[in-house]
Amino acid sequence: MKSLLRTAAIVTTAIATPISAQQRTLPPAVRQYVSIDAPVVALTHARVVDGTGTPAKDDQTIIIRGEKIAAVGKTGSIDVPSGAQVVDLSGKTVIPGIIGLHDHMYYGGMKFMGASYPRLFLSAGVTTIRTTGSVDSYQELNLKAKIDSLLLPGPGIVVTGPYLQGPGGGLPAMHPLDGTEDARRMVRYWSEEGVTWFKAYTQITRAQLGAAIDEAHKRGVKVTAHLCSVGFREAVALGIDQLEHGLLTNSEYSNGKVVDKCPNVSDTAYAVLDVDSPEVQRTFKEMVAKKVAMTSTLDVFEISSPSRLPVDQRVLDALHPDIAKQVAAWYERGKTSNDSVRIAAFKTAMRFDRAFVKAGGLLGAGSDPCCLSAIAGYGDQRNFELLTEAGFTPEQSIQIMTSNGAKILGFDKWLGTVSPGMQADLVVLAGDPVRTQSDIRNVETVFKRGIGYDASKLRESVKGLVGFR
Ligand SMILES: [Zn+2]
Repeated sequence: MKSLLRTAAIVTTAIATPISAQQRTLPPAVRQYVSIDAPVVALTHARVVDGTGTPAKDDQTIIIRGEKIAAVGKTGSIDVPSGAQVVDLSGKTVIPGIIGLHDHMYYGGMKFMGASYPRLFLSAGVTTIRTTGSVDSYQELNLKAKIDSLLLPGPGIVVTGPYLQGPGGGLPAMHPLDGTEDARRMVRYWSEEGVTWFKAYTQITRAQLGAAIDEAHKRGVKVTAHLCSVGFREAVALGIDQLEHGLLTNSEYSNGKVVDKCPNVSDTAYAVLDVDSPEVQRTFKEMVAKKVAMTSTLDVFEISSPSRLPVDQRVLDALHPDIAKQVAAWYERGKTSNDSVRIAAFKTAMRFDRAFVKAGGLLGAGSDPCCLSAIAGYGDQRNFELLTEAGFTPEQSIQIMTSNGAKILGFDKWLGTVSPGMQADLVVLAGDPVRTQSDIRNVETVFKRGIGYDASKLRESVKGLVGFR
């Protein structure tokens, strides 16, 4: 190890003086997946979708220096520093690292996937996640610390506290809140432990949610929610920072909804909902006025419409063989599923996302890799295809999945676009996802803080692990 360190130091000083970025020493657990690690890297002849929503640009060069993007511009128009490692990306597209805002660290029965998910996320181009409902916040905090110290490969993690769930209907990993002081106590404790977001859940009452938000804001911590007992507008009035999922978790358009109770809203009711109606527009208006962002999770909604779901062999390969068998059978059954009403509801959910953005709302995306075919990384890629199907341009879909996520997390000064000064979190895709959306799946290299990871090596390393550990 020592001699390696010395060699690295010599190489660094031997290169022309402008290159001062420190050579990092990566442990074998990380190094085995790394294909590019140089003080200065020049990615040339790339098509770039920069994350701002503007049209893709051809034949671009990106200079990475250390952990940051130093320059971006037309190939030939910007200097490639001598000594830089030059990588020709002709025929390839670079997008910012994906920021998954609803990207749990669990799968199937809320089992913690600390072994497989970090590498799977990274392999799919997801370089930052917010866990948005944690089954084990301590494991997430410890995992985050290891990834931040470059001891393990994985995305940057924004750790969420345990779910803030109301009484009744809770899953075994959730503490059912007993009043407002209980909500404050939980928020206090986990904020002090280092979580920076909380997710409220389906049965929470307005009083508990209000108390949790108040306590969180006192500590500079934020709150989002997967709602049901509380409607979107009620949560907005209570000062919530964000809302998860979109339409199919908004119960406020249901006739005769009882306050603080989660109604059973039929698929038909969602299917026929008019997103241009005054009611829906009022929700958007209040969200926009209070700067309440929303997370689109179309890929997990699509699970309820299995007849339209494309079979993804990569999902089956990543799953533990026992679970893969079950999911393969579920895919098969899904082909003949009688789900036309649910598809109609799903399409309204797509229109809801579009209408929210049209009304001035800030939309991010997340995969909710909870179960069945919704797994880490591949779910995020599916979101790109679905957002584009919903009517966003491919560039807008990328923006939703990258720089909008950075804005929502408050990271936009240093993360989320392909531009100078930003952290070098970049995804190299074979092909062009603007023309062929499924090219989002063709991840070749993922740069995280300037280190290039070989996506296929990461992918190989987690085969058969998902659902197991
Ligand atoms: Zn979720």
